[in-house]
Amino acid sequence: MPRNASTTKSDPVLPHPDFSRLSAIQDALLAWFGECGRNLPWRHTRDPWAILVSEVMLQQIQVARAIPFYEAFLDRFPTIQSLADAPLADAIRVWGDLGRYRRIVHLHRTARIIVEVHGGLVPDDEAVLRSLPGIGPYTAGAVACFAYGHDTGFIDTNMRRVLHRVFLGADVPAPMVRDRELQTLAIAAVPSGRGWAWNQGLMDLGARVCTARKPACDQCPLGPHCTARPTIQGALDAAPRKSAGATPAYDSTNRYFRGRILAELRAIPPVPPENGITMPDLGQRVRPGFEPTDLPWLQEIVSGLAKDGLAAVAEDRPRYDAVDTDRPSTLRIKLP
Ligand code: SF4
Repeated sequence: MPRNASTTKSDPVLPHPDFSRLSAIQDALLAWFGECGRNLPWRHTRDPWAILVSEVMLQQIQVARAIPFYEAFLDRFPTIQSLADAPLADAIRVWGDLGRYRRIVHLHRTARIIVEVHGGLVPDDEAVLRSLPGIGPYTAGAVACFAYGHDTGFIDTNMRRVLHRVFLGADVPAPMVRDRELQTLAIAAVPSGRGWAWNQGLMDLGARVCTARKPACDQCPLGPHCTARPTIQGALDAAPRKSAGATPAYDSTNRYFRGRILAELRAIPPVPPENGITMPDLGQRVRPGFEPTDLPWLQEIVSGLAKDGLAAVAEDRPRYDAVDTDRPSTLRIKLP
């Protein structure tokens, strides 16, 4: 058991983690990562600000998609101070089409709190990090580990899958433990002094070898030690798949239109006089065939953006309602 393990094999919150081969598993993953780890820009820095930006961007975003946004963002905001000093509208413009737009609102608030409360230094304490806007256990652990070298454990989707399969068994049809227990397992599994490489290796193995539906067990460095290997493929074959017709086309979802609306707002020149864009004009720009009867739908999405701090709505007359579809709306929308 590593020195930072907070549980033992008999701990009741961990039903069956097999740590008997922990040392061999650690060695195998570290060796594989040393040979096959991906060359990613945020792996060449220990700058806590750059690490924080990368981790905020990367959650549920593919690595290849995130890289140009990461580089452009750090070009414009190379320090926490530079983001804290900037208007939120500038930050939203630089965030561009990356999506998950609440993250930039949180990151902007976090930068200001770090400057005002923490002297401009990203905290290294996970509990303090978790107190910042938008930072959960994963991001806090990743910053503590990747920027400050702490031997701590944390789980994203890929890490969760690998740890579950290796130490507990197949994660289908349902995981055997909750995230809280997997988090404890993740901490217990970290090799002393090698947390950075171990956690990066878990991420890469989950992304490239131990994938959700097609784990390449015959090419996996952990194959000889993996609890799930004998059963994983059969369990996956037996697991029900999502119906292909159940998911609506992305370009018909409100999430898609949030992105389209923000793209239009970003295109408004950030210099006075800048009065935003009217609702009908906005609707026609983001949705072909937009009709006045679509205004309530548009208003609902805009209201959500305003509530998330991503848009500002100036009301020149009482709030629009569906009965008013004959009157041109004078609501004007812009970045905050
Ligand atoms: S042996 Fe298979 S199930 Fe186990 S970690 Fe490797 S790819 Fe995943």
